Amino acid sequence: MALIIRDDDLSYWSDPEELEELYAPLFDRGIKVSFAVIPFGVKMHHAGDLRRFYQETEAMPLGDNSEMTEWLKEKIARGQAEVMLHGYNHLYSVEVLNGKEPATRSTMDMVRSEGEVPRLWGEFSTGTAEELALKISKGKKYLETLLDCRIRIFVPPSNQIGREGILAVVRNGLHISGLIGKVYNREWSVRGLVTFGDRILFALRHRGLTYPKVANYGKHKELTGYAWTPSTDAQGLQRQFAYCVEHGYPFQIATHYWELQGELKAGFYQLVDHALEIGLKSRFLGEVL
Ligand SMILES: [Zn+2]
Repeated sequence: MALIIRDDDLSYWSDPEELEELYAPLFDRGIKVSFAVIPFGVKMHHAGDLRRFYQETEAMPLGDNSEMTEWLKEKIARGQAEVMLHGYNHLYSVEVLNGKEPATRSTMDMVRSEGEVPRLWGEFSTGTAEELALKISKGKKYLETLLDCRIRIFVPPSNQIGREGILAVVRNGLHISGLIGKVYNREWSVRGLVTFGDRILFALRHRGLTYPKVANYGKHKELTGYAWTPSTDAQGLQRQFAYCVEHGYPFQIATHYWELQGELKAGFYQLVDHALEIGLKSRFLGEVL
């Protein structure tokens, strides 16, 4: 049984000291963390707060932050960290009257000034497979060269991805962290259809639970992640955890280091402690897929 810790949104804008403070106690005990890294991240303001959230459009290469880069390289070399690809720049689009625009301050304010709640689209939920495949291949190569590692997994920004995005991931030979969407928009394969059938059966038999198995679609695999954020339904998460433990399924917890403070941080440590105590083993997602 595997416990996977996934931390999203590492980029040029991240602070290695904050990461070190949170994860050093885990690394010291041999616990591994799978980091979802944005190769050319844009700056976000007020993440998680839709009333104020906006982004700038200038994308910064991770390598321009040498402290962050060195921190990651050291953790990879020690076998403590795995790097997954988290989009290209993580720039959202927002719905406006005549289409979608980047979620800049002026666009977001315009939508809000009309009294509407902005509807955001993740970077990989719009665009063609060709465009997205090129972004993945560029981002992957950049991080692999910069960090001297191999990337095997794609983590869709804001957990949104459509048919075109999945096609782009598969073309680049990657797996996906997360199990997104309820329709069949994956590659056509017998294995994939069997998996899809199994997902439907599971949903009918286990109301309120998420499909917990590694989903094999033939050319790529996916595994759902359970969010550990301020809006997490703790009881639902516990039910899911108990089910995974009982049946020997891997448990992937998905969090953001910058959100883990106070009670949320204490609860995160408790969950990890408890999981290891009852026999789960710390694994990278790449090992499980
Ligand atoms: Zn993200």
